[in-house]
Amino acid sequence: MAHSEIPAIALSDGHTIPQIGFGTYKLEGAEAERAVTKALEIGYRHFDTAAFYGNEEAVGRALAASGIPREELFVTTKLWNDRHADPERALAESLERLGLDHVDLYLIHWPCPAQDRYLNVWDYFQQAQREGLATSIGVSNFLPQHLERLLSESDAAPVIDQIEVHPAYQRREDIEFLRDHEVAVEAWGPLGQGKYPLLEEQAIIDAAEAHDKTPGQVVVRWHAQQGRILFPKSAHTERIRQNLDVFDFELSETEMAALGALDRGTEGRVGPDPSEMEP
Ligand code: NAD
Repeated sequence: MAHSEIPAIALSDGHTIPQIGFGTYKLEGAEAERAVTKALEIGYRHFDTAAFYGNEEAVGRALAASGIPREELFVTTKLWNDRHADPERALAESLERLGLDHVDLYLIHWPCPAQDRYLNVWDYFQQAQREGLATSIGVSNFLPQHLERLLSESDAAPVIDQIEVHPAYQRREDIEFLRDHEVAVEAWGPLGQGKYPLLEEQAIIDAAEAHDKTPGQVVVRWHAQQGRILFPKSAHTERIRQNLDVFDFELSETEMAALGALDRGTEGRVGPDPSEMEP
């Protein structure tokens, strides 16, 4: 699909982000380079990486080799938990590994509340934005209590919170809080990371059969239809292609409700508890 057909989501700072991107967690070295190159060929222009993933160099190499103009790309990276004391150096190192002079979005990867440095980190993120090193700034894995504190102590609101969301872990209250504060939701682990057999749920299989799509595409569409930003990860060309090919069908209200009924609350969570995650 042509990248111009991927919807752009407006952020509260006036910038936009392609709704569907390519996730790179667990892709490293030559495999990461190959997958990003393939994703670019297929039409992805938005890439989600992090210092923690150890693949910023590989992602940067693939982006550079594509010859696609920088302004057509949207690149996100994240500050890892052990760098809350020196975010300025950490961002400089990420940019060097990526081979870029700025990222489109820089995120605090986890709040690390016991470390209690995220307010200072957020001050630095605003400086990085003023200096043009990060066009937009946001957070990841922040719960409402962390965001409430950030919003009350700072003039600048994060434009995005990147959080675990998928049909087995829907977080309706957290998402309502984000909507009320104009913080856009990025869903990580949108397919449940394959850890829980989410794609074998009958409601998902039924919708896939009804629309002649795969279960993965139904779940990507379910997120997109709710206005969320997401970046499924795959190393397989056919799945990379499928995950972007979700704009030619629509799930009915009944199908949306059937997926809505798959919520298992915190039992469905596949990642760590953000209150407890520390370096
Ligand atoms: P995901 O939900 O995207 O699942 C990825 C797995 O799903 C792959 O291993 C693949 O086996 C399978 N898959 C992909 N496409 C499929 C399809 N069409 N059909 C069937 N199976 C398919 O999990 P993820 O990679 O953890 O999340 C996506 C991205 O979110 C990551 O790559 C990363 O960029 C980001 N992320 C962020 C955080 C954070 O703390 N901020 C944490 C985890 C992931």
